[in-house]
Amino acid sequence: MVTNTRRAEADFEVAIVGAGFSGLCMAIKLKEAGIDSFVVLEKAAEVGGTWRENTYPGCACDVQSHLYSYSFEGNPNWSRKFAPWNEIYDYILQCTDEHGLRSHIRFGHEVGEAIFDAGPGLWRIRTTSGSTVTARAFVLGTGPLHVPLIPDIPGLETFQGKVFHSSQWEHGFDFEGKTVASIGTGGSAIQYVPEIATKAKQLHVFQRTAPWILPKPDREYTGLERSLFRVSPRLRQLHRGWLYVRNEVRLLPIMNPMLARPLEKLATLYIKRCIDDPALVEQLTPDYTIGCKRVLLSNNYYQVFNRSNVELLTDAITQIKEHSVVTKDGTERPVDAIILGTGFHADPRNYLDKLTIKGLGGRDLLAHWKSGPEAYLGITVAGFPNMFELVGPNTGLGHNSLIFMIESQVHYIVQCLKVLRAKNAKYMNVRTHVLRRYNEELEHRLEDTVWTSGCKSWYTQEDGKNIAIWPGFSFRYRARTRTVDANDYVWTPNPEKANVRSDGRNGHSHGDRHRRSAFGGVGGAD
Ligand SMILES: Cc1cc2nc3c(=O)[nH]c(=O)nc-3n(C[C@H](O)[C@H](O)[C@H](O)COP(=O)(O)OP(=O)(O)OC[C@H]3O[C@@H](n4cnc5c(N)ncnc54)[C@H](O)[C@@H]3O)c2cc1C
Repeated sequence: MVTNTRRAEADFEVAIVGAGFSGLCMAIKLKEAGIDSFVVLEKAAEVGGTWRENTYPGCACDVQSHLYSYSFEGNPNWSRKFAPWNEIYDYILQCTDEHGLRSHIRFGHEVGEAIFDAGPGLWRIRTTSGSTVTARAFVLGTGPLHVPLIPDIPGLETFQGKVFHSSQWEHGFDFEGKTVASIGTGGSAIQYVPEIATKAKQLHVFQRTAPWILPKPDREYTGLERSLFRVSPRLRQLHRGWLYVRNEVRLLPIMNPMLARPLEKLATLYIKRCIDDPALVEQLTPDYTIGCKRVLLSNNYYQVFNRSNVELLTDAITQIKEHSVVTKDGTERPVDAIILGTGFHADPRNYLDKLTIKGLGGRDLLAHWKSGPEAYLGITVAGFPNMFELVGPNTGLGHNSLIFMIESQVHYIVQCLKVLRAKNAKYMNVRTHVLRRYNEELEHRLEDTVWTSGCKSWYTQEDGKNIAIWPGFSFRYRARTRTVDANDYVWTPNPEKANVRSDGRNGHSHGDRHRRSAFGGVGGAD
């Protein structure tokens, strides 16, 4: 490792990992800020993240598309309120091309290691194929729901039929005449189950915990609406604003368990309206407070269980054999295919486990997070200078668009880079006590909310600590990330600048370099 104290040239000002909504937003806003020296390292062969990978039948967003899109890149052409995955994917491709991002992206580059070298103040980033880049700032846009969670069921690997995860859909598989087991009843499963139920001969839906599901206020946009959105961006923005406010209001029953009761009653009525059999109604009614886990939206999921070829099973699966699934009551059901609608590893200690990140003094990020991932505003971690996370700990939302949070984070990071430039600092490191105080505040705000009412979900780790959710209105998060309080960070000076100050000379040459670079005057590729 290089440890000289002079600032060395970095290949890039900023290296971004991942080309999903997060990484691409970061790239767009860097360009806008005049920071052109950046690289996006993407392990796949195309941009898109979530929307490149989730292509299962019925896949769509569950936040309205006019809101689940960049605020600065409105799309008047969404076909319906909740667009299907392919429209979202096309939108991402379009944004990538319109903003000229492709020349900055290195596809097929999976980042396996990032090590901070404090001497020169740069990140040394290595891909799994062995190539390296150095950058002043390191931005993680690896995605919170990206690594499929494969359940640990004895015998799964011995199954001789077709088995795949919902995010790795096998489009060539023909469901006609097949007996299928679908495991899990989360956000993805409730979208694909109604689609395959009409094709499969028999569908067994294995449910561990019933989700709360409300009707989805979905419909097509009329031609007139789309034309109006095209001619009047103002109207489209008003529509977006209205959707945003409506979604924020949905937080009220989640923040206050008393208000959750009436919503639960409504949701229970909805189940009864959709399902004929009272025993099924009971099995499909969750036993935890609404909002504790993500509330799902669907207009066709419950109805599926009225079909004679669909069976809901609530007994745990104890074993999978070569051609069958065995449940706790000893029943063995022969199946041709198993679909894993089991969600994703949402804990960064799992989804980042193939990526070694080392900060000051060789501190390992995942070891540092042993008792729980924590980041200031979900973005910066003490001991990991110039490292920024997108959709980091406690910045997920259950009630509104994650893109709103991503844009807030990207804005904050650009502000950080500007302050680094203004201070001509080598690196910034969030103060430990600032991070601690922030986390105490989060824990305090989570108290007495529905999230801490006792359910087990991917929002929480084993000891019950919520590591995923931002406990409050998203506009409060936006307000917190508008500006960077320089007192929250330790700014390590650039020794070259210190020399300039002490001897009062060399001002010109350094000044020239500062003009050449976006922050701090270093950067080889701009
Ligand atoms: C089916 C589904 C539906 C969803 N619907 C909604 C919704 O309606 N509303 C909402 O707000 N949110 C929704 N989400 C959450 C969604 O994940 C986020 O909204 C958003 O897409 C996250 O974007 P991202 O860029 O952070 O992550 P991703 O989209 O996951 O992108 C991460 C990228 O990083 C790359 N990558 C990861 N690790 C590495 C590495 N080591 N090296 C190089 N590249 C790497 C990946 O290949 C990927 O391209 C949904 C998620 C799923 C799975």
